[in-house]
Amino acid sequence: MKKLFNRLSVFAAVVVTVALLAGCRSNSGQITQVSTINALMAGAYQGQMACGELLQYGNCGVGTFDSLDGEMLILDGTVYQIKADGKVYRPNARVTTPFACVVDFKASKPVTLKPCDMKQFTTEFDAMYPDTHLFYAVRVDGKFKQVVARSVPRQHPPYKKLVEVAKNQKVFTLKNVEGTIFGIRCPEFVKGLNVPGYHLHFITKDRTKGGHVLSFQLKSGQMQADSYNVFKMILPVDSKNLKNIDMAKDRSHEIEKVEK
Ligand SMILES: [Zn+2]
Repeated sequence: MKKLFNRLSVFAAVVVTVALLAGCRSNSGQITQVSTINALMAGAYQGQMACGELLQYGNCGVGTFDSLDGEMLILDGTVYQIKADGKVYRPNARVTTPFACVVDFKASKPVTLKPCDMKQFTTEFDAMYPDTHLFYAVRVDGKFKQVVARSVPRQHPPYKKLVEVAKNQKVFTLKNVEGTIFGIRCPEFVKGLNVPGYHLHFITKDRTKGGHVLSFQLKSGQMQADSYNVFKMILPVDSKNLKNIDMAKDRSHEIEKVEK
């Protein structure tokens, strides 16, 4: 009888532990997005969620900041702000974002990459992960012959459309750098909500430079990936600033110009 009781105790302890772990991993398999890409494209740059709250939805991600003040990269639970001066800042938890995507990145076994450019890399990734109806996060840690990255300057109201702002984007050509690319591959059907295809951001290993990736040439590196089949979208409730924002308009051409 005592033995049975001990077994039951162990069983109960396991059940409680599993339940607790499940509670901690509530973002498992989920990509969480703040606002829509069309709202951002149309000039809705007012921050909707604080970085501190955003981190509750994941430890890695990409996005931008209130007033479009630079590119956001979240890596291993740290938020980096890469401003148009090319420098990397660490915003406090109260700084807000008008658009971001975060995931709880649970990395797969690393795959060693051969030297490749961005096109070769995405072609290879698509071949390895053909489930294009799912969201994927990808991380590459490596040495790069070159990374061409950009950031956008802080905007002041009345806000111009992103396609106009992007004409004044700052482009940085980083040569012979070590660092990390992190980003999302979205399904094509997210058109209007997010960026279909790849959206990659970069940061150097010493966390001093980076930006939204326009192209790269990798010398050597390791790649990890994770997939998500739960899509959570947190829409802005900012009716004052969204009054004149047309979120339904097809902005595919504008997104192509701005993001690629
Ligand atoms: Zn970006």
